[in-house]
Amino acid sequence: RKERLVIVGGDAAGMSAASQVRRLRSDVEIIAFERGAFTSYALCGLPYYVAGYVAEWSQLIARTPEAHRRNGIDVRLRTEVIGLDLARREVIALDHEQRREYREPFDQLVLATGARPRELAVPGRDAAGIFTLHGIEEAQALVDWLARERPQRAAVVGGGYIGIEIAEAFRARGLATTLIEAGEQVMPMLDPDMAELVERALREEQVTVLTKAPVEAFATRGGRIRAVITPAGEIAADVVVIGIGVEPNSELARATGLVVGERNAVHVDDRCRTSEPGIWAAGDCADVSHRLLGRSVYFPLGTTANKQGRICGLNLGGRDARFPGIVGTAITRFGDTEIARTGLSEREARVAGLSVITGHARSTTRSGYFPGASWMTVKMLAEESTGRLLGAQIVGGPGAGKRIDTVATALSAGLTLEEFIYLDLAYAPPFSPVWDPVVVAARKLA
Ligand code: FAD
Repeated sequence: RKERLVIVGGDAAGMSAASQVRRLRSDVEIIAFERGAFTSYALCGLPYYVAGYVAEWSQLIARTPEAHRRNGIDVRLRTEVIGLDLARREVIALDHEQRREYREPFDQLVLATGARPRELAVPGRDAAGIFTLHGIEEAQALVDWLARERPQRAAVVGGGYIGIEIAEAFRARGLATTLIEAGEQVMPMLDPDMAELVERALREEQVTVLTKAPVEAFATRGGRIRAVITPAGEIAADVVVIGIGVEPNSELARATGLVVGERNAVHVDDRCRTSEPGIWAAGDCADVSHRLLGRSVYFPLGTTANKQGRICGLNLGGRDARFPGIVGTAITRFGDTEIARTGLSEREARVAGLSVITGHARSTTRSGYFPGASWMTVKMLAEESTGRLLGAQIVGGPGAGKRIDTVATALSAGLTLEEFIYLDLAYAPPFSPVWDPVVVAARKLA
């Protein structure tokens, strides 16, 4: 028989790998198992579908199963891989529609099983009206609830980027919204001084922000959510979304003894190989190397899932591709406030044993006199002894956030402050002040 590649998971990482292999090789049979009903869908777009900015969920599908099939990929929907038999090099699949279990042999296997929302095991969690947002079906259920039940008061549990995006969605729909965070601050990927700016933006848009408020229980009435119970009191809510982080779906890998790393993510090398020959992993189920920390971390993002999927596919297609690793870049927004970070935060740098210096710049996204200029604050971090850039955080109005890419590029290149300050960045009044705010922040340190 033909050489056979089996993919487990039909979204970003899995289908990037499959498509890349197909581009390079026509002599390989490719089978992709997906336990859900969709392929290549944009989880990242779900908050904007809930907000109503994206009218139809179908707009979030980049490539349908039929399109993949036309491309020569045998997509098997609603079919879950429930076991791996390494000795026989077979996967054990369960077709949920036919209620049939069968085995499928493989020569090469890609694990792209993604992640699942972290659970909040408190009383009342099963009440109707409490959702997580990690799939098209979950988003549909939430949107149906909003349309059918017409809730007035929403609570979001978790102040990370997903929580903030959902808070925006609820505000866009006119719901009174409370954001409940167990930790000291919202946006734990930012330092407290920058997170403070995000909290201010939330409050300005009438979101009630509660920090240091771990959820103790959900109060229900007739099986439906009535309130969220926290040490700060009872918050009335008739719809709740929980977004407190994700955990890698690494059970298949762990059950067969594959090496796992931080947070139980499947450990991969720079070619996306696992510890078992012929088995590869990519995306939210896997770890990734961090260029500044010099070790692997769990940093699940769509941008990395696509890249790791591509690396898998290139290698399986006969090339020799290596992923150089991430520098910890992420971006989100709440309404008009853009929030971005790259590299290490002050806290992360200290934990890594680095002596860090920080500089802040308060500036504008365009020349101050130019119409449409909005505020932005940049925090820049560098290593005290060497002047090497370590990271940056940005909070500001429209046009602020994507400037993080300049710093991410500089981090990848290992630039020092001096090198960064004199980069030939573009300037004209409609685009930036004469010194870009990220450079102004770096100048504070030089
Ligand atoms: P997934 O997208 O989780 O896909 C894994 C697939 O595997 C799923 O379809 C699942 O059904 C299937 N599967 C799992 N186990 C099995 C099995 N045993 N058998 C068969 N099939 C299986 N990232 C960003 O970079 N930017 C953003 O703005 C952003 N926003 C986000 C917003 C939200 C609300 C969410 C939830 C995530 C967001 N992300 C964002 C993260 C991004 O969506 C993920 O990093 C990305 O989807 C990971 O792709 P993946 O293919 O590794 O995993």
